[in-house]
Amino acid sequence: WLGLEGKVAIVTGGASGIGLNITNELLNNGVKVVVADLNGEEGQQSNGSYFMKCDVTNKVSVDQTVSKTVELFGSLDILVNNAGVNLPRLLVDDQGEKPEYELSEKDFDFMVAVNQKGPYLFAQASAKEMLKKGNGVIINVSSEAGQEGSAGQSCYSATKGAVIAFTRAWAKELGKHNIRVVAIAPGIIETTGLRTDAYNEALAYTRGVTVDGLSTDYSKSIPLGREGKLSEIADLVSYLSSDRASYITGTTFNISGGKSRG
Ligand code: NAD
Repeated sequence: WLGLEGKVAIVTGGASGIGLNITNELLNNGVKVVVADLNGEEGQQSNGSYFMKCDVTNKVSVDQTVSKTVELFGSLDILVNNAGVNLPRLLVDDQGEKPEYELSEKDFDFMVAVNQKGPYLFAQASAKEMLKKGNGVIINVSSEAGQEGSAGQSCYSATKGAVIAFTRAWAKELGKHNIRVVAIAPGIIETTGLRTDAYNEALAYTRGVTVDGLSTDYSKSIPLGREGKLSEIADLVSYLSSDRASYITGTTFNISGGKSRG
């Protein structure tokens, strides 16, 4: 019912977690999907997507991925800017500053490069292609942290907030060319990709619980009483990719089971 058959999409970070699920759901809807991710062999994958090795932080790599997609599949209709990294570090703890909790400058630059520069470069390259045919959709995967701010994740929150600001600005620039730009802001989603020990430690500290008590605590803080399913994110992205969402642009959709309203 979404009418997505035959469309061409790029999903960045589509090799795992949320991106992989978005890829599979778009494939189910008849979309030709290029997965742009760091490690893998170029070519057709077993799920039916086409893998292109790409580093979203590198303009040459991004431009090549977009032009190769158009060369191979004829157009680019949907960009899902999903690749992201999170290296949480608390600024201080109850006892005062703890040096091991400080975010290094290198990690700061790394998160900004992947989460903020990456989507910018991809949107830039993709919009140029979309302008040629006068339509397209760009979907940016932000985070609830980008709307609310998350303790221990100040740099991550800032990069995800930047994505929301890009979304608003691009929607204004590109609307007259029939290119929609939207963002989604997931809350706690059942994926382990970003859940490093440091992530869990920072979250547990913020919530005043032990790392072992985290999942019970998650559930208590979420009105729907559970983490989000990967399929629930993929369903929202598929809908937003389609013409069913033709009057939606510039908006960020919070999808957090009621944990926040965004
Ligand atoms: P994940 O770690 O499972 O997947 C991220 C993917 O991005 C990986 O396949 C990785 O290889 C790829 N990637 C990383 N750096 C890249 C680069 N430089 N170039 C190309 N690809 C790169 O993470 P996930 O949990 O599926 O998260 C996906 C997105 O959703 C991220 O943007 C994340 O910030 C956002 N998000 C996740 C959650 C959650 O609870 N998991 C919540 C809110 C937002």
